[in-house]
Amino acid sequence: MRIALTGGLVADGNGTAPVPGTVLVEDDRIAGVLPPAASLPPGAEVIDATGNIVAPGFIDLHSHADFSLGSAPAAESQLAQGVTTLVAGNCGWSPFPITNLEILRAGTAFLGARHEWSWHDLAGFAATLEPAVNLALQVGHCTLRIAVMGSAQRAPSADELRQMQDLLRAAADQGAVGFSTGLIYAPGTYAEPSEVAALVATAGECGLLYSTHLRNEGAGLLAALDEAIAAARAGGARLEVSHLKAVGTTNHGLVSAALEHLDRADVDLGWDAYPYTATSTTLTTRLPAWALAGGTLLDRLADPAERERIADALRSDQLLSPDTVVIASLPPGRYEDSRGLTLTRSPVPTAWTPLRSCCASSNTTRRPSASSTTR
Ligand SMILES: [Zn+2]
Repeated sequence: MRIALTGGLVADGNGTAPVPGTVLVEDDRIAGVLPPAASLPPGAEVIDATGNIVAPGFIDLHSHADFSLGSAPAAESQLAQGVTTLVAGNCGWSPFPITNLEILRAGTAFLGARHEWSWHDLAGFAATLEPAVNLALQVGHCTLRIAVMGSAQRAPSADELRQMQDLLRAAADQGAVGFSTGLIYAPGTYAEPSEVAALVATAGECGLLYSTHLRNEGAGLLAALDEAIAAARAGGARLEVSHLKAVGTTNHGLVSAALEHLDRADVDLGWDAYPYTATSTTLTTRLPAWALAGGTLLDRLADPAERERIADALRSDQLLSPDTVVIASLPPGRYEDSRGLTLTRSPVPTAWTPLRSCCASSNTTRRPSASSTTR
C-alpha cells in the first residue's frame, strides 16, 4: 500500500527548517521524501496536506497515561495533538508491580485510574492494553516502595532494598525503559538520597533512564537538582528532570540557576517543562509528610489535636495560599460544586482563566522556558 502526502511543509524532526515536499509511505514505512514537483509512483493514494505541516509523531515523555489508556485505548486526546509515543510511569508512579493493591490504588487515586488492576507485573499490565499509540513504560519508585514496604515512613532494610532492586530488574527484563521518582509524594518522599541512589544504580545497570520529579521544586530546587545529578552520575544512568520549574513567587528566577547546574553537569541529561504557568498535582502533596505515613490520614483528621497540628503545618507552608489554588478535579460527592473555584470557594480571577483548563493548580509557578532540551 502506497500513500503520498503532498503539498505540505515537511518537518523531519532534525531541527532544520521545514521544506515543501511529498512524503511517500509504503507498507507503513516512510519510503522517501520527494521534491514538491516529483512525479508520484503509480497507484499511490494521495492525501492533500496543503496548508499543513507533515512531521513524525511527537513523543510525550511526561505522560501518566499508563493509568488511563486501559479505559481510553483509542488515545484520541494524544493523537489529536500529533502525539504517537507516550513515555509513562512518571513521578514515581507506575501501575506495576503490585503486591499491596489497596495502598497503590489510594496513592494513585489522583491519576484517575479506571482500569481493572488485574495484573502483578509489567508483562501482565502490558498484556491488558492495546493502545492506539506507542507506549514506553517506566517503573515508579513509589510503586516499588509500596510493593515492598507499604506506606512505611522509614528507611528500607537491606533486604527490602534488595527486593525493590529485584523488582526493578524484573521490570527491565520485561521491557521497562526507565525508573522514575516522585520525591514529593508519600511514600517516595520518605526515601533518603542513599536509597534513591541505590535504585538509580540498578537502573543504570539495566540501561534504564532515570526520570525524576525532584524532591523540592521551591526554595530547595537547586539542592534537589544536585541530588538527582549526583545519583545519575554515580549510577551511570541517563537523567530526565521532569517538569522543571520553581514553585512559589519567592523562588521565581531559580530556574535560571537550575539551567546553569544542568549545563554544567557531566551527565547525559534532559529536562521538560509544562506548557502552562501553574503547577498541577494532588493537594495531599501540600500536607506534611508525617500526616500520610501509614495511610492513616483520615484517622488523623478525625482527631482534633492531630487536625490542628496538620492545620498549623499548612498555615506555615509558604507555597500554599488557599486563594491561589484552583480545584480542577474532584470525585463525585459533597464538594463537587467547588470544581473551578479556588480553595476559598471564590471564582478564579479572570486573569487566570487559561489556568482553568489545567488541573488542581497553584498559581505560583514561574513561566517555564518555551523550549525543552529533552532527549
Ligand atoms: Zn511530577
